[in-house]
Amino acid sequence: AEMFGQLTSGLEAAWSKLKGEEVLTKENIVEPMRDIRRALLEADVSLPVVRRFVQSVSEDAVGTGVVRGVRPDQQLVKVVGDELVKLMGGEVSELVFAKSAPTVILLAGLQGVGKTTVSAKLALYLKKLGKSCMLIAGDVYRPAAIDQLVMLGEQVGVPVYAAGTGIKPAEIARQGLAEAKKNNVDVVIMDTAGRLQIDKAMMDELKDVKQVLNPTEVLLVVDAMTGQEAAALVATFNVEIGITGAILTKLDGDSRGGAALSVKEVSGKPIKLVGRGERMEDLEPFYPDRMAGRVLG
Ligand code: GDP
Repeated sequence: AEMFGQLTSGLEAAWSKLKGEEVLTKENIVEPMRDIRRALLEADVSLPVVRRFVQSVSEDAVGTGVVRGVRPDQQLVKVVGDELVKLMGGEVSELVFAKSAPTVILLAGLQGVGKTTVSAKLALYLKKLGKSCMLIAGDVYRPAAIDQLVMLGEQVGVPVYAAGTGIKPAEIARQGLAEAKKNNVDVVIMDTAGRLQIDKAMMDELKDVKQVLNPTEVLLVVDAMTGQEAAALVATFNVEIGITGAILTKLDGDSRGGAALSVKEVSGKPIKLVGRGERMEDLEPFYPDRMAGRVLG
């Protein structure tokens, strides 16, 4: 299925209602706006976001007046496109590097969202930017996750600091960071233990790890398939531990768009990177304008 396919066709219904009109008016955009609202809600964009979005598109659309040579339906497409870009944060939100090495990136997230995969993908991504990296296997409750990270590290050619499961997350963070400093590594990426749901133990662990690492980036990994729930998670983690952004995974699946469109507005934090497949190469920056282009079809 084409990503955002349903959203794209829902929006097309809105444009088609303007065929034959000569100018956008308060009256003739009522029906198209209803379609846009419905399409966004069906894509699992959170309700307050949809409300504000529809409000601002309506105002902009009526305010544009007659643009010579541009049909009203094309005008509305343009307004919606611009608003979508804004909604997703406008510009690309680049990863930040520490002034003095090592830059420390802490990854958090619930189980199964793709955190371990993202850790290795991110190491490869940074390696391609010319940075030397080290991974810390901090998912200390799942031996399988540690083994998986060690294996992926080998695959992408990045060393993995692992100390088994009989160790506290904050302690392995401390050891791993010391090792990275000793080896003059540019970037340290720490994978952490997820849970099926948010719980206090996980948040407390993350706080402890964060205190030890003093990370430049704290990125929450969220699954695009979970829609607006992903945006709510980003907001919650930000309040609880303080994060710098999100990584949205599984954008290659038939995600409806709710997560990509809601995260920034709901949490105030940008999506920095997206995962678009299971291969190690499938991680790229989140470009709001390209994403809006995909939504419009
Ligand atoms: P963790 O529990 O958060 O560490 O999740 P894992 O990294 O083990 O990933 C869980 C599953 O999701 C694995 O089967 C991954 O291959 C898969 N996965 C992760 N990222 C992506 C992605 O961007 N696209 C697809 N299709 N699958 C992904």
